[in-house]
Amino acid sequence: MKEKGTINIEKLIGLATFDVSEEEKGQLEKELEDFLEYARVINNAPCQDMKPVSHAVYKDPYLREDESETWADLDMLIKNGPSVLGTNYIAPPQKGRTGIDEKSLERNVITEKGIEYEAVIGLEVHAQLNTKTKLFCKCSTEFGRESNSNTCPVCSGHPGVLPVLNKEAVNMAILAGLAAKSTVNNRSIFARKNYFYPDLPKGYQISQFEEPICSGGYVDVEVDGPVKRIRLNRIHMEEDAGKMVHVGAPGIWGSKASAIDFNRCSVPLLEIVTEPDISSPKEAREYVMMIRAILVSLGICDGNMEEGSLRCDANVSIRPVGSAELGVKTEIKNMNSFKAIEKALDYEIDRQRKMKKAGIPIEQETRLWDDSAQKTYLMRSKEESHDYRYFPDPDLLPLELTDEWINGLKDRLPLLPLERKKTYKEEYGFNNDEARLFMINPDYADFFEEVLKIYDKPRILANWFFSEILSYIDNDIQNMHIQPADLSEFLKKINSGEISGKIGKDVIKRAFATNKGLIEIIDQEGIKQIIDPDAIEKIVDEILEKNPSQVDLYRSGKTKIMGFFVGEVMKATNGKANPGMANEILREKLS
Ligand code: ADP
Ligand code: MG
Ligand code: ZN
Repeated sequence: MKEKGTINIEKLIGLATFDVSEEEKGQLEKELEDFLEYARVINNAPCQDMKPVSHAVYKDPYLREDESETWADLDMLIKNGPSVLGTNYIAPPQKGRTGIDEKSLERNVITEKGIEYEAVIGLEVHAQLNTKTKLFCKCSTEFGRESNSNTCPVCSGHPGVLPVLNKEAVNMAILAGLAAKSTVNNRSIFARKNYFYPDLPKGYQISQFEEPICSGGYVDVEVDGPVKRIRLNRIHMEEDAGKMVHVGAPGIWGSKASAIDFNRCSVPLLEIVTEPDISSPKEAREYVMMIRAILVSLGICDGNMEEGSLRCDANVSIRPVGSAELGVKTEIKNMNSFKAIEKALDYEIDRQRKMKKAGIPIEQETRLWDDSAQKTYLMRSKEESHDYRYFPDPDLLPLELTDEWINGLKDRLPLLPLERKKTYKEEYGFNNDEARLFMINPDYADFFEEVLKIYDKPRILANWFFSEILSYIDNDIQNMHIQPADLSEFLKKINSGEISGKIGKDVIKRAFATNKGLIEIIDQEGIKQIIDPDAIEKIVDEILEKNPSQVDLYRSGKTKIMGFFVGEVMKATNGKANPGMANEILREKLS
């Protein structure tokens, strides 16, 4: 087939200034021949007027005979079928690849002795946008509704229906782009990403591929002091898939039935993709915390990782320290906490190092994190983007954004996490850890700022917030029943001495136990500190009268017994006497 003699490799090499070995010459010659062969085939192909596609199509055979062929038998399929981890499949271990048991790796730590490897990490975060309706239809996105009640012909994939884009989802994507200093593109394209899975009724996911809504940008994170800039590759919009529930088993295998809930189908997601700029598991964790803080501050995502509103896939490879080239990466899925992200990456980096040292090539693959075993497992060898046969969705026009539209959203930008941290340090005098806590939990900060509007003492508020409120809420301030106004009125009472700190703590404790408001409890129970000196004096007199021997002891010089008297006053008043005042009056009377 090949027309030999058409390439004079000697001449070509002569043009270059590289020192090329005989072996390399042969290699180059082969590559050039292949390339020219492709060019020849393409030039002669009967497809000159075809639009280019993302993948190759068969020219030969172009037509096939009507003959059936069994390509795999069922027994073989079942035998080699995936087992299950949680609700995911695990592919069987493959010999010579990841089926290698780690013990044999330990013994082989020799091959590349002396070479130190560094980790390279890139993250893909999927954030569920909190719009009221889905991305392409008017179905509600409300969580926890009855299965398949938030569905319609569009999101359940009926033929002949047309998607219509949700404008607020677009606004939210723009906001994320502005916050990350991305370029918000005036034109972006929705594409179909084709794959089969029962939770995807259309057989494709509408996503963005070649032209996403935002390109570039960065997120600054602080890891142990200095700021590290992590560049973003892109932010794009896409729709979520449905959810499968397996009856009687953790996964499809062994289950009596698998049910599918389409409520989540077509809920809008943002996918935020970094450049491979992250160099440690800790940095990865910090980055995800920061992304969460940004999205929650913007009010576009609730940031709940356990419920899956924020999901993260981690891509990781290793390379010799100092090398600029990227190694073969693996992708880890299924981590649903910040800690899991860090642990999964730690494990995976270690696994790759051991593979390298044992001289076993690392394969591009997708792995699953198993939180209970604290290990990653092979899920599938990694697909390439051309496997998805992406193409522009013919049902959706390109998304055209004017500069006015984009710039108009700048008014909706809040104080972003790093700025907020700075403000908390500078204006309120908080230390780094305190300010950081508000930075990574914008919902704490929002609550805090609401209270401050009425009760303008950040230090005192922070003490109550950190040591009392936080100990009851289990990170979930959004569902806390105590309102900012209630807490500020409560703190005013503490401040004026109307109730003591001790009683205050007890009120908070009971408020959480009974789901009542703080002021509600104080009013209902008539809790008030006794600050009337006459009232306290009366009580003091009674106590001194009842305890003559202790009074004598005090007067004979054992002044340490003062504590006993104060305790008695408190007992007599159910802890309501102002302790400072009680002390003062006691001292007067006893001396
Ligand atoms: P894919 O098509 O496999 O999803 P992408 O090129 O889109 O790969 O990259 C996905 C993520 O993986 C990005 O965050 C990117 O920074 C990161 N990434 C790409 N190559 C590597 C590598 N060799 N090592 C670590 N991370 C990588
Ligand atoms: Mg990917
Ligand atoms: Zn719908």
